[in-house]
Formats: sequence, structure tokens, C-alpha cells
Amino acid sequence: MADCIFCMLANHEIPTSVVYEDDEMFCFKDADPQAPVHVLLIPKKHIECLDDLKEEDAPLLGRMMLKIQDIAKDLELDNGYRVVSNNGEDAFQTVKHLHFHILGKRKMTWPPG
Ligand code: AMP
Ligand code: ZN
Repeated sequence: MADCIFCMLANHEIPTSVVYEDDEMFCFKDADPQAPVHVLLIPKKHIECLDDLKEEDAPLLGRMMLKIQDIAKDLELDNGYRVVSNNGEDAFQTVKHLHFHILGKRKMTWPPG
């Protein structure tokens, strides 16, 4: 989608630090890390947020959720990690392209802010 920063990153129109990539998903380092390890996993298909998922997206989302364990192993997040998806205004979603934050290498707090 034109004007979507995450589409541009996934299309290699803007350089980024790639962690994992295949035909349907893209994982890269967050530009403003909130933990020693902070990466974002996105579908290459432009989907704005969880509310916009369609039944046909279920296999893609399933494969993305399964890929997280591989990414976590590659990033040596052996002691645990947090997966976060901010959706909509109250959650402070700033980029309107569905993404999953994967954060690790520090103790997280709960409840989140
Ligand atoms: P959210 O607030 O959940 O929408 O998260 C958006 C995330 O995207 C933030 O953590 C930003 O630091 C990150 N971000 C925005 N632009 C870029 C970029 N060009 N490269 C990497 N991360 C980015
Ligand atoms: Zn997009």
C-alpha cells in the first residue's frame, strides 16, 4: 500500500535490519527499541489491524504465530519474551499495518502501561 512505512520496509524500498523474511511475512528490528531485543513481525500483505483480519487470513496468521518460536530461538530469547500487538487508538497503535512486537532480554512488568 502506498504511503505505508511497513509496506515500504517489507518491499525493500527503505533499508532496515532484517531478522527474518519469506514470501508472506517480514521481521525487522524496531527503530526505537523498548528492550535489548525488540523486533516487529508483520504480514507482507497490508492489513491495518486485527479488526481487519478476514477468515482467509487465518492460515497466514497461524504461520506467523508459529514463526515466532523460530525467531525467538534465533534471537536467543531462551528465558522468555513478550509478544504485543497494539490495536487502535486506546492501545496507541502508531503504524496502521498489523504488527507483532517481540520483546526480550529483560524482565517485563505486568500489568503493561
Ligand atoms: P505501534 O506503536 O504498536 O504501532 O508500534 C510501531 C512501532 O514501529 C514502534 O515501536 C516504532 O518504533 C516502530 N517503527 C516505526 N517506524 C519504523 C521504521 N522505519 N523502522 C523500524 N521500526 C519502526
Ligand atoms: Zn502496509
